[in-house]
Amino acid sequence: MSSSKDADTQRPAPFSFDRLRIRTTATVVNLVAAVFLVGCANGSFWRAMAVALEPSASGRWVFLATTGLILVLVFSILFSLVSNPAVHKPFLVASIVLASISDYFMGSYGIVINREMITNLLETDSREAAEFFTWALFRHVFLLGVLPASVLLLTQIRYRPWRRELLVRTGFVMASSALLAVLLVANFKELVLFGRNHRALRSYVNPTYPIYSFIRVLQAKHEARDVQSLQVIASDATRPVTATRTAVVYVIGESARAENFSLNGYDRPTNPELGRRNVISFTDVQSCGTDTASALPGMLSHLGKRHYSAREAKKYENLLDVLQRVGVQVIWRDNNSGSKGMADRVRYEELSCAQDEALRSGKGCYDEILLQGLDQLLRDNTGDLLIVLHQLGSHGPSYYKRTPKAFKRFLPECDRDDVQECERQTIINAYDNTIVYTDYVLARLIDLLEAQAYPTAMLYVSDHGESLGEYNIYLHGLPLAIAPSQQTHIPMIFWASPDFLKAKAMDPVLLAASLSNPYAHENLFHSFLGLFDVQTSLYEPSLDLFLPARNRKLACPRRKIVNNAVK
Ligand SMILES: [Zn+2]
Repeated sequence: MSSSKDADTQRPAPFSFDRLRIRTTATVVNLVAAVFLVGCANGSFWRAMAVALEPSASGRWVFLATTGLILVLVFSILFSLVSNPAVHKPFLVASIVLASISDYFMGSYGIVINREMITNLLETDSREAAEFFTWALFRHVFLLGVLPASVLLLTQIRYRPWRRELLVRTGFVMASSALLAVLLVANFKELVLFGRNHRALRSYVNPTYPIYSFIRVLQAKHEARDVQSLQVIASDATRPVTATRTAVVYVIGESARAENFSLNGYDRPTNPELGRRNVISFTDVQSCGTDTASALPGMLSHLGKRHYSAREAKKYENLLDVLQRVGVQVIWRDNNSGSKGMADRVRYEELSCAQDEALRSGKGCYDEILLQGLDQLLRDNTGDLLIVLHQLGSHGPSYYKRTPKAFKRFLPECDRDDVQECERQTIINAYDNTIVYTDYVLARLIDLLEAQAYPTAMLYVSDHGESLGEYNIYLHGLPLAIAPSQQTHIPMIFWASPDFLKAKAMDPVLLAASLSNPYAHENLFHSFLGLFDVQTSLYEPSLDLFLPARNRKLACPRRKIVNNAVK
């Protein structure tokens, strides 16, 4: 017996993968995970820091190292708080994978994953989302997310008996917090001054800021559910009955920036068609947000700049509700990703080009789809009509998918979804082609309106602008406070038929005189009320951009429309 036992002990143990497993404590795992995230998944944060710090600033490297150490301490304290064996690994794995995804989008497009971005993500459709799933994304997430997460999953974490583990965890959290306090106190002045001047930097910290933003979005959705009912606005609104019918088309553009319109002085001929029509291009217009979810409600909201947020706006009715109530027929036609709740109570048409090969682009449609059937709608109109056309416009990153072949004037154009792999000039070419196409769509719309036998008008306004590599930033969605002008300076173009100008007693010369006045999305609510002659205590004449060009004395209504009935 004993001899066979000896032989067993002398025989080399069979190879087992288990021997390769890393065995370590929760403290070490937390520290390594924190260092990995701070060092490898925060490229955008470090780049933003480097830009924010003066290159010549003394102690630049010490400041960067201190910031890095502070972040490692904060992350490892957070991880220590969830070091319960049941949730520890899943939490770390989720953090690492999430960080790799955020890092890709932040690094590739120069964006931050804030509340607006997450709201957009939740409200986007599969067609839009599919354009972001590129090989570059999979490669990045595999190397920075899946691979380190796999190592972590294979690691055997040795947890002590729970009382001792709790004691060790508490000790670690206290020691780390003490070190953190020392660092903060020792560098208080520099940190506070720097932090005050560069508040937006915190939105680059990955993955804590994306997680924080996601929680805030869920909170907001929960709160919105608590709101009993939509708040009525302009309940006193009335409108004169006029003998003539009118139609106004409100074109909501997408990601179009003012500086790339030749009407506004761009040196490339991006507006060959509008340039030949009698339009007024307002040159100094600012958006109320830098992405669709936060800007679109502001293009219809009564809340001015001071009180506006997309969240607040959704608690109230909007321009479309007011106009519909005073008898204007309202129709929303969509070629984008929906109205963000703005057209929930009016006639809504989601357009499909499934049967029309020429208008199909990937899984989406070219914007000319918005004009299909429009002539009939305008002819059928018997009263006053507002049609909203929600464009796909210059939606990125796949600009090349927005333009039919005939409109690719600027070549070569970037024809990839991961635009950061393209030469910058080819991205600008692809973007400028989208403006050329929008120019064509708007010109065709004007021709259609001009052919009607009654007064018609068009106002085109973009929801926000777009970055095309200036300061190494792409797309849009930076917080308003730090967004470059390319993301907030938007085009606004007005056209009206001679009949419309006459019916509204509007002097185009006076209107043209105001084209360089500063305007913003907040002007739109009041300007549309003005165009339809709606009278309400909510109407703010100083915000109506058309008012200075109108002679109110020429319009003398006798009867009024109150809540859809003639009185
Ligand atoms: Zn948008």
